Amino acid sequence: MSTAEPIDDLISNAPPLAPPNDEASSSTEPPFAHRHLRDDAFWREIPAFSDVSEEEFLDTTWQMRHSIYGEDQLIEMLEQVAPDAFVDDVRKGFHEAPMTVRITPYIFSLIDWDHPRQDPLRLQFLPISSRLSPDHPMLTLDSLGEQEDAPVEGLTHRYPDKALFLVLDTCPVYCRFCTRSYAVGVDTDTVDKENLRVDPERWERAFDYIEAHPELEDLVISGGDTSNMPAKYIREIGERLLNIDHVRRIRYASKGPAVMPMKILTDDDWVEALADVHEMGQKRHKEVALHTHFNHPREITEITRRAMDRLFEEGIRVRNQCVLQRGVNDDPETMKLLTRRLGEVNVQPYYVYQHDMVEGVEDLRTSIRTNLELEKEVRGITAGFNTAMHIVDAPGGGGKRDVHSYEYYDRDTGISVYTAPSVKPDEYFMYFDPLHSLSEEMQQTWQDPDERDRMCNKAIEAARANR
Ligand SMILES: *Cc1c(COP(=O)(O)O)cnc(C)c1O
Ligand code: SF4
Repeated sequence: MSTAEPIDDLISNAPPLAPPNDEASSSTEPPFAHRHLRDDAFWREIPAFSDVSEEEFLDTTWQMRHSIYGEDQLIEMLEQVAPDAFVDDVRKGFHEAPMTVRITPYIFSLIDWDHPRQDPLRLQFLPISSRLSPDHPMLTLDSLGEQEDAPVEGLTHRYPDKALFLVLDTCPVYCRFCTRSYAVGVDTDTVDKENLRVDPERWERAFDYIEAHPELEDLVISGGDTSNMPAKYIREIGERLLNIDHVRRIRYASKGPAVMPMKILTDDDWVEALADVHEMGQKRHKEVALHTHFNHPREITEITRRAMDRLFEEGIRVRNQCVLQRGVNDDPETMKLLTRRLGEVNVQPYYVYQHDMVEGVEDLRTSIRTNLELEKEVRGITAGFNTAMHIVDAPGGGGKRDVHSYEYYDRDTGISVYTAPSVKPDEYFMYFDPLHSLSEEMQQTWQDPDERDRMCNKAIEAARANR
């Protein structure tokens, strides 16, 4: 038997140098899955929406009116699509959660009701009691310290040249993992909220502050969600800010495109208000952008594409801020598909956030280690400007840090330590991996207050020594 193979065989057996699409070889997704967006009347599978026409479904007013809000409506809808045991699990979860429930017919219909427990969309919006894990002992409600850095109610000024302006406290949906569960939504069994209502008088105090601070060039208009702002206020706030000389950039934050893309197609007043503010900005050479929040590739459908096309034609830049969540998007294939699909609809992946340390949603957090590994997998699959930076918003007000930039990270205790020289020099900020990502033994150790102090002090000392 000859060991030599003819050269032609070697060539034809060799794997192609560059596979046309690495998804094809490493997952069950079809090639170019990111280009295939759902385009059927998917909502008709839900009994309550079985007669709803496309025209109705695309109508923002219809979506708002049929949003599922609060316990009774939720249970009524769930009983049509899910087994009793699951419905009971949600009912119980609802009372234990820091956020109330609100979900649009669009998202409700995209949930795979044959597998609601694992479904990545269900996980984000509907709590189930059996999956809730105990909070990490180091966790606080306003973990980012947004209220501490707020000189005026609803205006957080933490970074040198930019500020976060929370104009209202409602959203078209309520996400279980919301960082601002201290303010957003109505009070729940577990949280009494701060109020940040639509209130032009409160906004006036914020405008005064911004005018008096010439270093402020960049304003984030958020909430809550600017989708819930009447068009008139989108316009007024935008114009007011652009009229301040030193304001160079504004962005509206809205989850609308991800949870109710039809708003962009049929709420003409709102889109025109945004487009007018954008145009005013253009004339003054100031950027007006929209920041949104897709977390899973299945949230992007043909309806989304049409909505994003409209904004693209207006010249409005849309960027995405995604939250890394266990069981939702913490595997490389999902994150790659999300990244490519966002690019496909001209939404620029901007940030992937390490999940904040928020009360009552430990089941959704991942370790820093998981985040680091995901970033490594995703970087390189597409244009660098369409690849998100992975960040952690340092608990205690350190601000956003590149997740890789820790001074110290102990994978056993789950403690990572960050510094923020441009924001709060000389301070150390710790992030804590969720207990469920640690060994049984380590989970026990965290229950002991003396051990806690010892582990934290050791981590800070090691970080100091590393610098
Ligand atoms: C996120 C954030 C901003 C904006 O930060 P970018 O990194 O520019 O997106 C501004 N202020 C606060 C308090 C923030 O949390
Ligand atoms: S849309 Fe944003 S602000 Fe509103 S609940 Fe979700 S994460 Fe919180």
